[in-house]
Amino acid sequence: MTPDEFRAHAHQLVDWMADYLAQAGNRPITSTAAPGDVRASLPAVPPETGEPFEEIFRDFEQLIVPGMTHWNHPGWFAYFPANSSPPSILAEMLTATMGAQCMSWSTSPAATELEQVTMDWLRQLSGLPDTFTGVIQDTASTATLVAIISARERVHARSGHAPLAIYASGEAHSSVAKAVRLAGLGADALRVVPVDDSYAMQPDALRAMVEADRAAGVTPACVVAAVGTTSSTAVDPLEAIGAIARDNDLWFHVDAAYAGSAALLPECRHHFAGLDQADSYVFNPHKWLLTNFDCSAYYVRDVPALLRACSISPEYLRTAHDAHVVNYRDWGIQLGRRFRALKLWFVLRSYGAEGLRAMLRRHIELAAAFRGLVAGEPGFELMAPSPFGLVCFRHHPATLNDGAALDRHNERLLGRINASRRVYLTHTTLAGRYAIRMAIGQWQTTREHVALAWDLIRGAARDDS
Ligand SMILES: *Cc1c(COP(=O)(O)O)cnc(C)c1O
Repeated sequence: MTPDEFRAHAHQLVDWMADYLAQAGNRPITSTAAPGDVRASLPAVPPETGEPFEEIFRDFEQLIVPGMTHWNHPGWFAYFPANSSPPSILAEMLTATMGAQCMSWSTSPAATELEQVTMDWLRQLSGLPDTFTGVIQDTASTATLVAIISARERVHARSGHAPLAIYASGEAHSSVAKAVRLAGLGADALRVVPVDDSYAMQPDALRAMVEADRAAGVTPACVVAAVGTTSSTAVDPLEAIGAIARDNDLWFHVDAAYAGSAALLPECRHHFAGLDQADSYVFNPHKWLLTNFDCSAYYVRDVPALLRACSISPEYLRTAHDAHVVNYRDWGIQLGRRFRALKLWFVLRSYGAEGLRAMLRRHIELAAAFRGLVAGEPGFELMAPSPFGLVCFRHHPATLNDGAALDRHNERLLGRINASRRVYLTHTTLAGRYAIRMAIGQWQTTREHVALAWDLIRGAARDDS
């Protein structure tokens, strides 16, 4: 591709991107592709000679886009959002263009130092103490794995190689169980702490389990608490858990992958009370803070503990600056690193704290309004509290009282809602019962999109009765 061809195609793509974002809501939000359809539409062997860009782009539009799920659609109410805002997308274009591999300070000084600055900006915006130092990880799963490995190393350094125990509630994200396994602790090192009626961890049960482990010769190593669990956005009581962690020398990791963005709002700060006691904290700007995937903010108090767990310096990576600079390759699992701070910087500067807070408030208000609609509608019921942008509910006709039948009824209901392909919702189970999740947080979602979803939900319920 010549420089002139690159320029022409790039302009063409930017036009496509602008149209895509402006008209995202007009597309079917999900694909109707069956397993294998997309693959079958593509050649099984690679091209021997280069193909014209026009043909590649035509196939992108005709074969690939129809097989996509459109996360950037304003009818997105599934899982949690994964927002790609315009400033973030523009920064990603620059990142790809420069193609820097930011493993060490000297492999791009600006990448390292901009990461330090943006992580500190986010720390201030989130009300975190200045004893926390941040680093961008690819995902919350990686951050939690790093936290558990750091905890393991700290305990092993202090007390030898006794069997370890890691504690998290039954509502903790699956990345915790995965991290315990990947850290080599054995799946049975995970202790599942029971939750209360609001799906939050019961601290008294945690304390009893820690004491029982000690008595049995197992070393309690780490507790993972959540602010905003994945199923229902439950908030574990950080103050009480932090006190238990302190009394028992546990590494205290807080996973707020989705809800951490809400710490930008003073009125949501009470959910994070006790976070100042944590050893590590993760939240994902790539979920609810307008920064496209991937960008996960990981904060630690004890940086040397993180470095002891992750740093390694073979001769071929040594530089003259190592003693005076941050080499982020030592702050996580991977060696090679993308320049993720650039998009975060574009986002924080484009929206400002005010713009970010306004978006978060809008989503929380829309969720509160939706909650009111569900509560006021005969035959519907709420399934959990909604401290942030997620509402869990189900349809419960008066004539239907068998639990399993209700589950099947709601599963069919969700299928009919999503068959519209105008909105997309997903489900979970809470206390063993099927619940529909309405996660409001896509950046282009307005009151009208929520109203459309509610119409489709009620319509689907009527069709079934
Ligand atoms: C989404 C989520 C995760 C996983 O996030 P990734 O960045 O995809 O690894 C972890 N914990 C919670 C509470 C989540 O909601």
